[in-house]
Amino acid sequence: MIFKKDISSLHVPHNKHTAGCVPVKIETPKEVILPMNMHSGHDAEPIVSVGDHVYVGQLIAREEGRFSSPVHATVSGTVTEIAPMETADGKGTLAIKIESDGLMQADPNMKAPEFTDCDSFLQAVRDGGIVGLGGAAFPTWAKFNEAKNPEYKVDTVLINAAECEPYITSDHQMMLLHPDLIADGIEYLRKYMNEYLGDAKFMICIEKNKPDAIEVLKKTFEGKDYVVIHELNAIYPQGAKQVMLYNATGRVAVAGRRFPSFGALIINVSSIAKMAEYLNTGMPLVERIVTVDGPAVDKPMNLIAPIGTRISELVKVTGLKCEPGKVVVGGPMNGTAICSIDDPIVKVSNAVLIFDEKSAVLPEASACINCGRCIERCPVGISVAEVDRVMKIKDEDKRAKALIDTGVRQCVDCACCSYVCPANRPLLQKNWDAKAFLKKYAAAQKERQEVTNNG
Ligand code: SF4
Ligand code: SF4
Repeated sequence: MIFKKDISSLHVPHNKHTAGCVPVKIETPKEVILPMNMHSGHDAEPIVSVGDHVYVGQLIAREEGRFSSPVHATVSGTVTEIAPMETADGKGTLAIKIESDGLMQADPNMKAPEFTDCDSFLQAVRDGGIVGLGGAAFPTWAKFNEAKNPEYKVDTVLINAAECEPYITSDHQMMLLHPDLIADGIEYLRKYMNEYLGDAKFMICIEKNKPDAIEVLKKTFEGKDYVVIHELNAIYPQGAKQVMLYNATGRVAVAGRRFPSFGALIINVSSIAKMAEYLNTGMPLVERIVTVDGPAVDKPMNLIAPIGTRISELVKVTGLKCEPGKVVVGGPMNGTAICSIDDPIVKVSNAVLIFDEKSAVLPEASACINCGRCIERCPVGISVAEVDRVMKIKDEDKRAKALIDTGVRQCVDCACCSYVCPANRPLLQKNWDAKAFLKKYAAAQKERQEVTNNG
């Protein structure tokens, strides 16, 4: 692997048209649809029934299993359906539909959570349904919980404020509007996780293309020497956790090891703000800022919407200037294309991008011309052409070994390789296939080993 001084690699057009757009709260939608898989880990389990009346912030689905997250009602009204829904990953999940009564009444039993020590603090973060809002939706409490592992010595908390994907400005707006909540979040961590993070440096990693947010943060944390505003070049993919770790600390994240083993935790800046909001008020994660932009959008905006709002409701506010060709949730590099404009936004939906029919057409892939651009632009120096070749090896053991040697496990899913490939090859998808194979292979190996051990 070749390491450069700054391992971000690509100048992509920023298209941050909404950077100056103060978020506008949408009118209460008529209904919301809340999928049970808005986080990584096990699906949540509904605890309400059709016909139940619910309030904003009321618990409607419990977390299930070790890594999961609860779901709360995001409008007040009546549960009208609990049914399977299709999801973009093809796996499907249960979803709770709530018809709004238009009142947005908060749960009358709501109060700020009580916590006195590290464990009760982590439990509170867990109860608030807080997950990584920048992409992975990993439950936030579980991320902090890892710092307690005696094998790790966490000395740096990276607060990911890079927002390096084109178009998206929701984190940017969160920093401008709620630096107080970001500060509260840091203080909560310092106080209640003092034993593990008391001496840690909090590095707010932000790209230089957000000078107003940098100024606000510098003012907010003036005199607090445990907080560093770390300015990054606006080069994609600064927000990938392995890239951020290297560019901020010089440490190299080796594949197959937990992130805290490199002495660092990483949390998205909006997640830390939402965590503090819940701990201050008792209102769980029920709404978020969403950037709505893209070539087909008439008036790009930042909107505040209840989680579960249909995308079509957001589009009613921004308008469309032409027929949509493709709808992507998240950024254009790393987001997910969805099947229908009637799908809901979920906890992690930082943006909805709507492309016109012309820009949605994928160019046809042709044969690799061995130009090497994919390796040159990959922040971790992977040769996807080699990954592609290795994936054709018939013998699974040999294929797994050769794939590990390509370094594909270190792929940060940034799509720089696909973006620069002159042959328009779907390189990111090839990496996903390779990583999925390695995951399946490792699980099969583990099962085989267990059978052997049990005689
Ligand atoms: S998506 Fe492509 S460019 Fe990005 S890390 Fe993976 S192999 Fe490298
Ligand atoms: S960028 Fe595309 S054409 Fe060039 S080496 Fe990589 S896969 Fe082949």
